[in-house]
Amino acid sequence: MVNITNLHKKFGSLVVLNGLELKTPESGIIAVLGPNGSGKTTLIKSILGMVVPQKGEIEVNGQRVKKHWNYRENIDYLPQIANFPGNLKVQELIDMIKDLRGKEARDRELIELFKLEPFLQKKLNNLSGGSKQKVNLVLCFMFNSPLIILDEPTSGLDPVSLIRLRKLIQQEKENGKTILITSHIMNFVEEISDRIVFLLEGKIYFNGTVEELKTSTGEKDFEHAIANIL
Ligand code: ATP
Repeated sequence: MVNITNLHKKFGSLVVLNGLELKTPESGIIAVLGPNGSGKTTLIKSILGMVVPQKGEIEVNGQRVKKHWNYRENIDYLPQIANFPGNLKVQELIDMIKDLRGKEARDRELIELFKLEPFLQKKLNNLSGGSKQKVNLVLCFMFNSPLIILDEPTSGLDPVSLIRLRKLIQQEKENGKTILITSHIMNFVEEISDRIVFLLEGKIYFNGTVEELKTSTGEKDFEHAIANIL
């Protein structure tokens, strides 16, 4: 699904990705983890074509990612920070994105899932952080791309919404999709992930299942296993 070879990215003299290699399975949930500043967002943005690497190749569904690549035809992306036009109402924004993409969308089902009906006629500027994140999730999941990239999808969500999000992601996996996810909530990552990919010093330092990570670090607890990598 995503095939990355020898990816190099520097910002000035700062080396962020240094020969990174990654091949994801055809479907499944892959958590991209690593310390702050290890390059998770840079990796994600490289896959989206928003960051242009100095060297290396990225393929998504057999298509080479190039400058000006329109990732929206292949990828549903949830940005870490949504840049909403705050004076629009929630419903207006959803309608605008649907019109722009001109694709069939399942927004009604997702509005119902995240209980967003009471907020549809409110301006985005007036929503709480958690409600904004739910709108962000509706916009991401309403189309039907084979690859979904979620940068911190859990941020600001209450426990009930977290459970709903987990079920939604699992459903998408059962539909045969590949989901790449970053999150700092370790029990969410442990419950949901088929594979853990851990970035360190510009490369994939570990790529395996939660159980393999626990075995290789000699830790029974996932959070301790992650801490032990470092
Ligand atoms: P976090 O867990 O804090 O979100 P991350 O693993 O996603 O971090 P990145 O956001 O990819 O890390 O950043 C990796 C490094 O690259 C950081 O040191 C960051 O300051 C730097 N960086 C990222 N984007 C740019 C940019 N456009 N210009 C200069 N430096 C950048």
